[in-house]
Formats: sequence, C-alpha cells, structure tokens
Amino acid sequence: MTSIDAVVAGAGLWGCTVARRLAESGRNVLVLEKRPVVGGNVRCETDPATGIEIHTYGSHIFHTHLDDVWDFVNRFISFNGYQHKVLARYKGKTYFLPLGLTLVNQFYGINLTPSELPAFIANEASRDVPQGVTPSNFEEQAISFVGRPLYEAFIRDYTRKQWGRDPKELDASIIRRLPVRTSYDVNYFSDYRQGIPLTGYNSLFDRLLNHPNITVQCDTDWLTWKEGEGKALSHLPVFYSGPIDALFGYKFGALEWRSLNFEVERVNCADYQGTSVVNYTLADVPWTRIHEYKHYHPEQKDVMAHPETIICKEFPKKWELGDEPYYSVNNRETDELLAKYKQEAAKMSNITIGGRLGEYKYYDMDQSIARALAVDLT
Ligand code: UDP
Repeated sequence: MTSIDAVVAGAGLWGCTVARRLAESGRNVLVLEKRPVVGGNVRCETDPATGIEIHTYGSHIFHTHLDDVWDFVNRFISFNGYQHKVLARYKGKTYFLPLGLTLVNQFYGINLTPSELPAFIANEASRDVPQGVTPSNFEEQAISFVGRPLYEAFIRDYTRKQWGRDPKELDASIIRRLPVRTSYDVNYFSDYRQGIPLTGYNSLFDRLLNHPNITVQCDTDWLTWKEGEGKALSHLPVFYSGPIDALFGYKFGALEWRSLNFEVERVNCADYQGTSVVNYTLADVPWTRIHEYKHYHPEQKDVMAHPETIICKEFPKKWELGDEPYYSVNNRETDELLAKYKQEAAKMSNITIGGRLGEYKYYDMDQSIARALAVDLT
C-alpha cells in the first residue's frame, strides 16, 4: 500500500465492515487492532483435539431481519441454518424459553391455546402491576409481561446474577429484549435468517479484510499509536470503535460495564447437555448459563460424534477498568456521562465513533453491521 487514506481503529464487526466499505470505494485503509487477532468479541478458536469452534467471548448466534445486512455478510460467508433455542433449568426441571405457550403450559401444567394466553398472563400480572400503569423499572416491566410466578422462576434471580443489582434498580428496557410469544415457537430469536458461519466466525473477518486496499496491523492500540508512530498521519479520517471514554482519557470518569468470566471445561462425553445453551435461572448456582459449543455446528458430523465435548460456564462479574467490557449498564447516570463524552466527540472533526464500545450500547451482531453500513464515508 503506497499511501493511507483512512485509519480504522478496532477490528470488530463495525470496524471491519467500515474498512471493507472504504476499501471498495477505492481508499487505502490501515486497520489497527489492539489485540493480537482481529474479530473483536466475535472471535473464536478451534479446539485442536475435537475440532469444536469455541466462542471465546460467549455464544454468538447470527440472526437478522435486515435485508442489507444479510446480503452483505452472505457475500463473504454462508450460514449453516442453525436455529437458536435456549433451555432453562429451574428446580431440577428443564423448560424451553422464551416465555410463550410452551413454557407457560409446562410450568402451570395447563393447556392454553394461543388466544387464551394473553388473558391468562394479564390476569396473573394484574395482581401486582395494575393495568394502565406504565412499568417504571425492570421488575414491574417483567411482571407486567409474564406475571409474578414466572418472573420469580425464570427472571428475578437470573437478572440479579447477570446485572449484580436488584431488578427494581434496573431499566425496564433490558427485559424488552426477551421475547414473549403466544405460540409454541421456541426459536429464541424472531428472525428467520439465522445461523452460524459454515467456515467459522473467524473466516468472516479474514474475508472482510482480504482486499488489496486493506492493511491490518494487530497488537497496535490506536490511542498510543497516534501519539507516536502515527503522529504524522493525524490529518487522516479515523473510524474508531474503542470505548468512547478511553478516547478522552476517562476525564469525566469511566462508563460502567458488566463483565463476564468464562470457565471452559473439557468433558469426557459426546453430549453434555443436549443443546447449545442452558440457562440456570435460580440463585443456587453462581453461573447464569452453560454453553456447549459443538451444538452450533450440527452439520459437522465428526465433531458432533467426538467422544469429548467442551462446555463453558458463564459467570457475570463487576467490571473494573482493565476488565473486558461486555454489557453496557445503561441508566440515568451513565446516560449523563455518555452525553458529556459525546459533546467532546462532536468537537473533533476527523473522527467517526461507532460500534458497541464506541456508542456504549448493547448491539446484536447484525445491528453493529447495520450501523457500519450506514456510516457516511465522505
Ligand atoms: N433473562 C432472564 N432469564 C433468562 C434469560 C434472560 O431473566 O433465562 C433476562 C436477563 O435480565 C437478561 C435479559 O433477559 O439480561 C436479556 O437476555 P438475553 O438472553 O437477550 O441476554 P444475552 O444473551 O444478550 O446475554
């Protein structure tokens, strides 16, 4: 590459999509990645003994209803058609999420039809949250969605573990992510376009970045690079997807995140739990869920039949500066802090900030790509 026209700082989904678009528009792009490898938290590693694709940062299932995003990723990879189902372990029994006809009928031992379910739930909910009152926090919102018995069985403790806070102190928007169905459909996501890349997630990044106009440099943190080696290039446009507060040296304080610990175990059986994710909804176990990664590739017959499997227990934990940030903790306090950083960012002329860390927002993978496809590159 003779000259550089733009710098992309951070090689996650947002950064790599932006880099590809820049390259295809004829610009020479330098992609800088702080980690030794590209792919952000979508990065996977293949276990050499079993061939299992381990999702290093927890399960990632691609799903979207966005045509342009689907078309874009399918230029680079094909999906295996995996449809995500999540099971929930409660008091020694296993239930199908999401909250819908399957779960409600199993939980109450009844046989409601789709048209009977809403009235049943409304009746359950009305005991605690009077109708017509807008729920003001997570707990009220959850009870208004499903009623107290289901809330206490499947949501309250899980949410406490996940967020480290009482659900009354959490924003109602978090639970709106969890679908509630009136059918027996146990597909966790409502998007029919779903799957896991046949060639693995890493291949998506390799192919996105495989363009003559793209140069990738790992182990390079743009924040320090721009003060040294990259100083002469400070006039170039930058597309930054690191944390927005880090960009300004955390001068107003750090935005709060929730972090995770993953305990990966090799288990001496072909199939540990019969499915990819089981949530543990009560406080009697410290983890929120167990992932069993081989189930994401049912088409890999040899891997499925391998006498060993790999499981991963997920433990939410308090985030401290230096820990891996996973979930943004969006509340009034962090909204105010974010607004201050955004004001600072608006004063900078040649930087575009995006992605989960840059926007301090929970994004599904398709949303990150959609945001990157919408970036004005001029
Ligand atoms: N949730 C819950 N019980 C479950 C699964 C989810 O209470 O078994 C709640 C929890 O508060 C969580 C939110 O729903 O933070 C969103 O869940 P989702 O599965 O979308 O979370 P993700 O997979 O993104 O961590």
